[in-house]
Amino acid sequence: MSASLYPHLLAPLDLGFVTLPNRVVMGSMHTGLEDRPEDFPKLAEYFAERARGQVGLIITGGIAPNMAGWTKPFAGKLTNGREVGRHRLITEAVHEAGGLVCMQVLHAGRYAYHPFAVAPSRIKAPISPFTPRSLTRFGIMRQVSAFARCAELARRAGYDGVEIMGSEGYFINEFIAARTNRRDDEWGGAYANRIRLAVEIVRRSREAVGPDFILVFRLSMLDLIEGGSSPEEVRLLGQEIEAAGATLINTGIGWHEARIPTIAAMVPRAAFTWVTRQLRGHVNLPLITSNRINDPGVAEAVLSRGDADLVSMARPLLADAEFVRKAAENRVDEINTCIACNQACLDHVFESKSASCLVNPRAARETELRYLPAPARRRIAVVGAGPAGLSCATVAAQRGHAVTLFEAAAEIGGQFRLAQRVPGKEEFAETLRYFARQIELTGVEARFGQRATAEELVGEAFDEIVVATGVEPRIPTIEGVSRPEVLSYVDVLTGRAVAGSRVAIIGAGGIGFDVAEYLAHPAQSGASFHEQWGIDVHGEHRGGLLPDAGDGLPSERRVYLLQRKATPPGRGLGKTTGWIHRTTLKRRGVQMLTGIEYQRIDEAGLHLSTPSGPRVLEVDHVVICAGQEKCDGLATELSQLGASVHVIGGALLAAELDAKRAIEEGARLAAGF
Ligand code: NAP
Ligand code: SF4
Repeated sequence: MSASLYPHLLAPLDLGFVTLPNRVVMGSMHTGLEDRPEDFPKLAEYFAERARGQVGLIITGGIAPNMAGWTKPFAGKLTNGREVGRHRLITEAVHEAGGLVCMQVLHAGRYAYHPFAVAPSRIKAPISPFTPRSLTRFGIMRQVSAFARCAELARRAGYDGVEIMGSEGYFINEFIAARTNRRDDEWGGAYANRIRLAVEIVRRSREAVGPDFILVFRLSMLDLIEGGSSPEEVRLLGQEIEAAGATLINTGIGWHEARIPTIAAMVPRAAFTWVTRQLRGHVNLPLITSNRINDPGVAEAVLSRGDADLVSMARPLLADAEFVRKAAENRVDEINTCIACNQACLDHVFESKSASCLVNPRAARETELRYLPAPARRRIAVVGAGPAGLSCATVAAQRGHAVTLFEAAAEIGGQFRLAQRVPGKEEFAETLRYFARQIELTGVEARFGQRATAEELVGEAFDEIVVATGVEPRIPTIEGVSRPEVLSYVDVLTGRAVAGSRVAIIGAGGIGFDVAEYLAHPAQSGASFHEQWGIDVHGEHRGGLLPDAGDGLPSERRVYLLQRKATPPGRGLGKTTGWIHRTTLKRRGVQMLTGIEYQRIDEAGLHLSTPSGPRVLEVDHVVICAGQEKCDGLATELSQLGASVHVIGGALLAAELDAKRAIEEGARLAAGF
């Protein structure tokens, strides 16, 4: 085999009592499977698949050390011997697959979504409706003991270590920050007092587990909230954590209540590894860096320039369990790259649904969605190479079927291709690269640039015909809608039409927001991501926040985003990313109007009735983003010819279509052939 392209990433790391095979840590990511004992077999297989994919060290989703520490009622906890057994399923499965696994101990503190929340002080979090109870001194000691006992139980369950969650604004972090710790006893006040809890927990946990057990501390190195820690304080805490007995220090970036994006797609790759580098040389422990590292080349660069000793990736390992193996075998073009959309992982968790992955619907469903070798090779036609068709064709071919993929356009992607043109969604190109490579690898016969007819398909006597012909933009009935200054979002995003300096967008759904971002993006801002969001990269301000971040750059274009509903625009956007899109558009000066009715479009512009009376928007162009209609004519024709067809994706149901549903439908259908 040729030499590795990733020597730093694939180098082992000797921790004294155990050697990690490489520098990739699968970071903690809640899947929802942790919360129900009956889901532990699924969780075990989910981790085992990643261990077989050669990840160096796995860290589980957060497990509470006691009921007060639950993230929500009945969340996963490890507090007694009876709960050890279910965790053994995980540790045995991972060890059998040749991997190493740590359990994350997570105490939610005031972020707990239940009435038993506890905290250093009685201060409600902006993201929880529950006001926490302020702990007594005795209460604090009980929490410390709970952490130590939980670590000891984790050892009994066969884990190779634990990660103590000290960042993201959870319990331990709340003691560290003066903003949430107003105590005047030995647990509050001076910094040395505020970090006492973190240090005590590490010290007592080390005592409980002995020397040969991995103890990771996730340290909030950049709080991104007012009154957060300074770089000097982070260094001091790192040194104290080392002295208390930790094995590794992991990087936490931003509290959950911070209003700066830290992992969304618009955050540049590896945008925060400089934060970890600031701690290097001040502690002797190996450091793990994280956030938006989704590619082996990027990870290698981070490690080779000395920002950290290891990289943590959570979502990229949901997207592709074989990430490390593919990198090691120089098959990086085969990696199914995480596009940082959050749509099937974090958004699911925040909606209390179990997590999966938009580009890999098997993630966290390994036991039920299986791509087994086909019992008999069948001839399958898939019509349409958008996300649904691509997913169906490549999974079916991977299973051994003979698949022909028909696409009227000259290239794959369908509507998905448009997304990559939206600022901050460039990662979407990776999914098309992945599918293009899968077509080659699995031997799908691609017939592009020709529209398949029902007669042809029936004539070729396929065993199965899948119609994935997608959607077309809905054109609303508004007087003047066929005027030349009315454009479709497809015209705009493909660059076929260039919008003028004053634009009204009809429809404020996902695509209306995308088009608004595209149109309002400053042509040449010159400002970096950190400057745009007011992040202090020089370590001069507490919490990493610049005092006068300003409102960002307004757009040179005047953009109106319109909606008939009276509800706030962007309601349907993802929970974890909607606020970023709304904030960005606000900063760009996009005007959002709701509760309106469209009257007509003429040479004067777009005429509206608004709740405050009639109004004319004097615009150069009107862009229609009013949802889609399904394109299922081919399915009807096939049925009329007596053929049996499977219809998936937008061709089945255009409303609420997104790539998540399309890819999953394609994969599930193909898994059953
Ligand atoms: P959408 O989210 O359903 O939004 C359609 C918009 O058009 C709505 O704002 C609707 O608001 C308006 N509309 C519907 N019928 C209309 C009519 N006859 N006349 C005028 N306005 C009309 O659809 P989309 O924006 O096309 O997005 C398609 C799918 O892709 C969605 O499921 C979306 O979630 C997904 N997507 C998601 C993202 C993301 O960031 N997560 C990005 C892009 C796309 P009113 O009826 O109130 O006017
Ligand atoms: Fe990444 Fe999106 Fe998959 Fe989450 S759902 S792991 S963000 S690709």
